[in-house]
Amino acid sequence: MLKLDMALPTHTTKEYPDLSHLPHVVIIGGGFAGIAAARGLAGKKVRVTIIDKHNFHTFLPLLYQVATAMLEPAEVAYPIRTIFGKANNVGFRHAKVREVVHARNVVVLEDGVEIGFDHLIVATGATAAFFGIPGASQFAMPLYSLADARKLRNRLLISLEEADASSETSPMSLNFVIVGGGPTGVETSGALSELIRTVIKRDGLRIDPSRVRVMLVDMAPRLLTPFPEKASDYAKRELERMGIEIEFGRSVVEVEERAIRFADGERLKVAAVVWAAGVTASGTLAHDLQTTSGPGGRVRVMPDLRLLESENVWAVGDAAAVPLGETEFCPQLAPVAMQSGRHCAEQVLRVLSGEPTKPFAYRNKGIMATIGRHAAIAKLPGGTVVKGTPGWLAWLGLHLWYLVGFRNRLRVMINWTWRYFDWPSGPRLIVADAETAE
Ligand SMILES: Cc1cc2nc3c(=O)[nH]c(=O)nc-3n(C[C@H](O)[C@H](O)[C@H](O)COP(=O)(O)OP(=O)(O)OC[C@H]3O[C@@H](n4cnc5c(N)ncnc54)[C@H](O)[C@@H]3O)c2cc1C
Repeated sequence: MLKLDMALPTHTTKEYPDLSHLPHVVIIGGGFAGIAAARGLAGKKVRVTIIDKHNFHTFLPLLYQVATAMLEPAEVAYPIRTIFGKANNVGFRHAKVREVVHARNVVVLEDGVEIGFDHLIVATGATAAFFGIPGASQFAMPLYSLADARKLRNRLLISLEEADASSETSPMSLNFVIVGGGPTGVETSGALSELIRTVIKRDGLRIDPSRVRVMLVDMAPRLLTPFPEKASDYAKRELERMGIEIEFGRSVVEVEERAIRFADGERLKVAAVVWAAGVTASGTLAHDLQTTSGPGGRVRVMPDLRLLESENVWAVGDAAAVPLGETEFCPQLAPVAMQSGRHCAEQVLRVLSGEPTKPFAYRNKGIMATIGRHAAIAKLPGGTVVKGTPGWLAWLGLHLWYLVGFRNRLRVMINWTWRYFDWPSGPRLIVADAETAE
């Protein structure tokens, strides 16, 4: 799993040699960016500590499949300690970082413990953006962590059970509203529609399909705006074929516990509002690192990824406004996170060995989104769009390739193959504690 340049002991039990003489690199966040940075530093002459509030790395692009009961949480997450099990110079601390004190080169954990660093890499990602819409952060359901996905799965499955229970007396209607027509909104609405079809067909839930509405709403005039218009039209046609109602130019003005209100005055009773309207770094640790933050609350960094006016604090991935040319910034995507994490590790090593740093250059790997179980669209780096089954196969291969852990890859591949043909079962479990988990 780890490719190390420096000869490291090959024994399976991790040893704890005294590395206190080596420069200490602290990485906050074990997402795509933090893991890539740590991989770049594993086996080098530095002591690395990854700090994360979760003890696992989450493969965010597949969260929607956990939320819609296609995959188990453990299939899209992997313990950070296991990833670096054989790298003796990489340690892990399970904690939430509260603050960074630049003047003293320390990070302060939630419990007040301070950890000193020679170099700090901030890779804390982003969070759901609610744009100050009343009730949205309280009642809408974002999809940004494994706990979010489990909560949403519970809500969806509980709503379907409620509808079944009501079928004998007064059958209830179920409205699911997905806010945001980007990749997450498109993928979630497609998978949700398939979940509903499956529970009716396979689990015998007594739900009249004509009483269930899955609506995808967006303020924009089309879906998947980073894709060409033809690809957006294709996605719309595919979703509509699955029975999803798509409404453009609709803005949400309030979310209530079981209702949503639009700017045109319509108030709709809902079983769940899935929030896929965008991300922000505001409200995260990264946002508080500077007095003036960059676009989307992100940290402003120099071309080499060091914070403006800092010698030894770096920011990567979704947390950072990574420059793209003179005036633009990189999108908040997994390839940017991985590449910036890797680049940052190289630059830290360059600084430590007295060499000048190099600017980050993003290599565009394209973008993709799935629409249900058999279709996807992929925009390749040159701009070519692949759709339908070839797009779906490309999506499948890429996601399996980047999923951490051989066992996870194997299990996900078996699950997908199984469901491609029939989808007879799935982890449709309502786990009570998910409502209270963070
Ligand atoms: C639902 C969803 C679907 C997506 N789909 C795609 C896709 O298909 N393709 C694509 O390219 N990109 C996709 N993305 C975007 C991609 O996942 C992100 O760009 C990428 O995860 C960013 O990596 P990161 O390491 O910067 O942040 P993250 O992956 O978010 O990791 C941040 C880490 O920091 C930790 N952390 C945060 N704050 C603290 C703190 N104070 N103390 C300790 N730990 C902390 C978190 O626990 C987390 O582990 C998707 C994102 C989401 C949410």
